[in-house]
Amino acid sequence: MASSADPALPPIREVIARHGLSASKALGQNFLLDEQLLDRIAAIPGDLADAHVIEIGPGPGGLTRALLRTGARVTAVERDSRCLPALAELSDSFAGRLTVIEGDATALPLDQLSDGPCHIVANLPYNVGTALLVDWLSGEDWPPLWQTLTLMFQREVAERIVAQPNTGAYGRLAVLAQWRSTAKLAMKVHRSAFTPPPKVMSAVVHVIPDEAPNGVRSDIIQSLTAAAFGQRRKMLRQSLKSVPGALEALEVCDINPMRRAETLSVLDFVRLARELP
Ligand code: SAM
Repeated sequence: MASSADPALPPIREVIARHGLSASKALGQNFLLDEQLLDRIAAIPGDLADAHVIEIGPGPGGLTRALLRTGARVTAVERDSRCLPALAELSDSFAGRLTVIEGDATALPLDQLSDGPCHIVANLPYNVGTALLVDWLSGEDWPPLWQTLTLMFQREVAERIVAQPNTGAYGRLAVLAQWRSTAKLAMKVHRSAFTPPPKVMSAVVHVIPDEAPNGVRSDIIQSLTAAAFGQRRKMLRQSLKSVPGALEALEVCDINPMRRAETLSVLDFVRLARELP
């Protein structure tokens, strides 16, 4: 949806060339240049008119301008200072609607970036994206400050986030993303859409918070899933030995201790966590 303040912008490829933004491998830079694709990604969170969006890793600003076109206010956090002049131009074009913060997003708590509900959108190197996702999913306060997460990952990581039990992709990330949220694979993105193209395919994951189950603490889900999937080939009676109260909880929940973690549903983990001290 184009907003009334949709200025004519130069193609993103031209912005990259003019500012000499050669992609840095160390910063995991693979840029998206196709405006139609960027508009489709910016549409995934739903209606963003007048909403606050936190974008992590705007780079030269392709996704940023697509988000601004929806009518959103955007706060963008970028680590690479070379991108700041290009983002400043974008800020001038969408007066008052883009704030750029230079910094490492992994060191900036969300409540420092937004004082109210917000949507988070990011196309990040997968290690940074996964660390931030786990952090955003792990707060004790629920619902969280974020209303939606729209995150690009390499496809294999995206599949782990939305995975179902009894599959090779199912593990800690799936449980963390699904025990009090709904996570969906919203769009597959071919590697050729990026400049330079990465070695692997990508996908956008969309996460919405649900109501949290009663009586379950996030830190307990963290430690339970870390132990269960830390030794995923082992039976639960072995892998959960180190978690206080876990063997008794298996009995109370009528879960056979000879099973392996990947056979337990997300609800099974919730039931177990509820029994732990
Ligand atoms: N959003 C742009 C796009 O879609 O074309 C750029 C995507 S590029 C894959 C990832 C961007 O994240 C780069 O601009 C990189 O500098 C930035 N980045 C990497 N690690 C970061 C971090 N820890 N905090 C903030 N930005 C980071």
